[in-house]
Amino acid sequence: MNGPVLVINSGSSSIKYQLIDPDGGEAIASGLVERIGEPDGVIGHRQGGIDSEHRGPIADHAEGLRLAFAMFAEAGMDLTTAGIAAVGHRVVHGGEVFYRPTRITADVIAEISRLSALAPLHNPANVVGIESAMRVFPDVPHVAVFDTAFFHTLPAEARTYAIDAQVAAAHGVRRYGFHGTSHEYVSGRVAEVLGRDNAELNQIVLHLGNGASASAIAGGRAMDTSMGLTPLEGLVMGTRSGDIDPGIVMHLRRSADLDVDAIDDLLNRGSGLKGLCGVNDFRELRRLIADGDEAARLAYDVYIHRLRKYIGAYLVTLGRVDTITFTAGVGENAVEVRADALAGLESLGIEIDLERNVAKDRSARVISTDSSRVTVLVVPTNEELAIARAARSFAPDGAVEQGQR
Ligand code: ADP
Repeated sequence: MNGPVLVINSGSSSIKYQLIDPDGGEAIASGLVERIGEPDGVIGHRQGGIDSEHRGPIADHAEGLRLAFAMFAEAGMDLTTAGIAAVGHRVVHGGEVFYRPTRITADVIAEISRLSALAPLHNPANVVGIESAMRVFPDVPHVAVFDTAFFHTLPAEARTYAIDAQVAAAHGVRRYGFHGTSHEYVSGRVAEVLGRDNAELNQIVLHLGNGASASAIAGGRAMDTSMGLTPLEGLVMGTRSGDIDPGIVMHLRRSADLDVDAIDDLLNRGSGLKGLCGVNDFRELRRLIADGDEAARLAYDVYIHRLRKYIGAYLVTLGRVDTITFTAGVGENAVEVRADALAGLESLGIEIDLERNVAKDRSARVISTDSSRVTVLVVPTNEELAIARAARSFAPDGAVEQGQR
């Protein structure tokens, strides 16, 4: 079936959705349901270039989806007769079980729920979104696309934590990596943009959004990535600390009398840029720095320091690097982050062209000089499109036969 695909990314109190034409790649409609379960729910919907809004209590995810679908209808599209080919669901944690797009059945839902121990904030919300959408669209394939899948191939030395091996095995403690759909999509686009065979490229991809991660990819295979058992490890993020000495957790437990949930909250939602200077949005950070705010300056410097550390690590991990690519909200927009992350690395063959770097261009593009040995790019990510394409392959005449996979 050649119809559009509905992509759903369900969080604990929100649902992001997009209706996408997987061939052309454009979003036919998109929206965000927020504050589910609170008195002041809100849905922002965009269709045909026109924005609409719904305000009022939204009891649960199913009601959120029903209200969103009513907004499609108000804007002139009945989703039940729109010929939707499949529904793609972003699922955060696939554990060791799921490493490719998977048609959702009752067993698959049970397994995703079981993996909630590894992703307590994400997987339960993903399941609620899946079950709600399956009730509304019972007759089309629903497909789960896992954030961890691309990192399934991490070599043993990159995925193993040096802790007691039996404890690790008993509790699924290993590095899984996240943002995989983005790292895979962006690295594939790099090969397309350069007209090169992906199998020949060694790439570093820097996904810098509110969450942030780096990856080292050799010939399309992920060799290392900065996020680990959970999305907390690695780079400094909007509200997450990234790498810290694990001793800090024990120290806070003992000296600040914080329990595990409080420490979880501190490290996931009250740290990173926000913890250092009170804001997690780069645009606000930039304004604070311009106003001479020293905490904001330090937050920026810590962010860049960590980013450069990972770039250095992955240059050595890969040995030869052909491309370094920036993507996601910060990576695509913050020119100073790109310039500072790669400043002074000419001796390593990395030369940013400062004019190309600041050019106002939203398409995938090269920002290094023609003489730079390593090609530096900015490539907009599009996780929704990648999910839509994966989901569409399960539609009746898609690439994957029913029952396969
Ligand atoms: P996520 O999907 O992780 O929520 P995004 O990839 O959408 O994040 O990135 C969101 C972040 O991108 C914002 O928090 C903001 O810091 C940054 N950002 C967005 N637009 C700009 C811009 N024009 N300049 C600098 N930073 C920006």
